[in-house]
Amino acid sequence: MSGLADLLKALAADGSQLVGPTVREGAIVHAEISGIEDLPAGWTEVQEAGTYRLRRREDQALFGYSVGPQSWKQVFFVPRLRLWQARRDGAGVTFETEQSPPRRLALIGVRSCDLHAIAVQDRTFLQGAFVDPDYAARRAAAFVLAVNCGQAGGTCFCVSMATGPRVTQWFDLALTELLDEPHRFLVEVGSERGATLLARVASAPAAAADREAADRIVAHTAQSMGRTLDTGGIKELLYRNLEHPRWDDVAARCLACANCTMVCPTCFCSTVEDVTDLTGEHAERWRRWDSCFTLEHSYIHGGSVRATTKSRYRQWLTHKLATWIDQFGTSGCVGCGRCITWCPVGIDLTEEVGAIRASHAAPPPAAEDTTHGDA
Ligand code: SF4
Ligand code: SF4
Repeated sequence: MSGLADLLKALAADGSQLVGPTVREGAIVHAEISGIEDLPAGWTEVQEAGTYRLRRREDQALFGYSVGPQSWKQVFFVPRLRLWQARRDGAGVTFETEQSPPRRLALIGVRSCDLHAIAVQDRTFLQGAFVDPDYAARRAAAFVLAVNCGQAGGTCFCVSMATGPRVTQWFDLALTELLDEPHRFLVEVGSERGATLLARVASAPAAAADREAADRIVAHTAQSMGRTLDTGGIKELLYRNLEHPRWDDVAARCLACANCTMVCPTCFCSTVEDVTDLTGEHAERWRRWDSCFTLEHSYIHGGSVRATTKSRYRQWLTHKLATWIDQFGTSGCVGCGRCITWCPVGIDLTEEVGAIRASHAAPPPAAEDTTHGDA
């Protein structure tokens, strides 16, 4: 325990802002933290479709929960960003581009599914034809202290998506929390930076028994996923069923509130807004998160392309699980379960895909009996 406290102190001493889990307003959220004392000691959560609540644990686990409402998306792809501002300057106008703040971050407690989500967002913002400078500046030099999940959430399905629960890449250090006495952490080194940092705090070589215990914890998490999703041929399944009656069924329940896209760690849509003051002397352009569930999102001159909730839900789900694969070579879903938990009416994408798949698996209706027997 004191080793983790020292690790966080060393990161802070190097000038990194610690961003980690903490309890706030009835949820475990990612926020700026000062040290180990801000972590959600002794808390866990209960999640189901449309339900999230905190619950006390019987121990003092620091990472004894699965995932909260926020992913790390908000840290790199910030919800609101001023792109530029302009001032009237005599007869002309002066433009000032926003300079990205040089802010070195240390992310504390990152789960495997969320590391995969960050990799998905990197493809969009860093590895395409255009690099997003603000995302790149925030992402650069971020230190990742990852955590292997010690329990699965009620809506998680990372095993189905091959994104967890064990952290395998994209980390500097990875912890597994061992809760028997003495409360301690098994640490895995994932980078040179991680090794250098670890060398500055007191640690001991891991005992074979501790390594086995850590393996058992992760294996147990993998076996207790809240959900499963059969991904076999999922792209083709969805492409074949763009007119399936299930889309009408889900549209009758969906509020088009956009919650699922806000909490999703891979969704990347945004819009821009121009604002001006009343004098007309000063104007600003802001980028803010947008969602394919809003009517305006697909607006082109003359109207919205996706005017119905059915078309918007279908767009979202088929993009996540099918067209994303064509676009980026990977699924747009990492199985974190947030869209299920935070949907106010409990719509569950694993259930929706399952219903479409089941309708294909169902035996064809029996042929009408046209034979006539004796009365
Ligand atoms: S679609 Fe849902 S389960 Fe998949 S990554 Fe997004 S929020 Fe998580
Ligand atoms: S699926 Fe749920 S969270 Fe997403 S827009 Fe519809 S009601 Fe909102």
